[in-house]
Amino acid sequence: MKLGILGGTFDPIHLGHLIIAEEAMVSLGLDRVIFIPAGDPWMKADSIITPGAHRLAMVLAAIADNPAFKVSPVELERNGPSYMVETLEEMQEDYGARTEYFFIIGADALKDFGRWIQPERILELCTLAVVGRPAQEALDLTPLASTLPGIGNRVVTVGDVAIGVSATDIRDRVSSGRPVRYLVPPAVASYIQEYGLYKEKR
Ligand code: ATP
Repeated sequence: MKLGILGGTFDPIHLGHLIIAEEAMVSLGLDRVIFIPAGDPWMKADSIITPGAHRLAMVLAAIADNPAFKVSPVELERNGPSYMVETLEEMQEDYGARTEYFFIIGADALKDFGRWIQPERILELCTLAVVGRPAQEALDLTPLASTLPGIGNRVVTVGDVAIGVSATDIRDRVSSGRPVRYLVPPAVASYIQEYGLYKEKR
């Protein structure tokens, strides 16, 4: 089995996330993509994060119509910071070593990969499936390769389909009363409204 993993804060999930998951599914022939909302995103330690239950509910609502998309609460259920290496180890226990793992990641997030906990181990456990994000220059692995010499063999690029939407942009829009329709799935827009999320500027 070929499994895609899309980790993120998903605060909130938006069409950019769904588009990259679908593109990775089709171009890499994945059987399934698992969305993993981060519990305590240590890379975003200075920011205010919406409670995990809301972020999880929005992911569930967003993927409800796609049977190949699943969500896992592993990181939300774990205490302490969310380290992808632990999540991948847990995935291996659940799905077995015969499964091939593809960690789907935006080109912007890849730049920080060298600062992740145990990047070498992560590269042993999965292939990084890198998706372009608008305004990203061509993928250059040279800075990462100085500390992670084998990274070139563990990265595949997935088409440049990304759209210029970010969760930051969605939160800003909601807080200033601008529309988010067509930027998030309708069920996510309704959820944000129902629970009054993102009303305050962060
Ligand atoms: P924020 O604006 O709050 O930092 P975000 O929109 O970048 O959030 P995350 O949940 O942090 O969303 O992202 C999860 C993953 O999805 C990351 O690998 C990120 O690079 C990727 N991603 C998010 N938005 C896009 C997009 N529009 N195109 C391509 N990749 C994206």
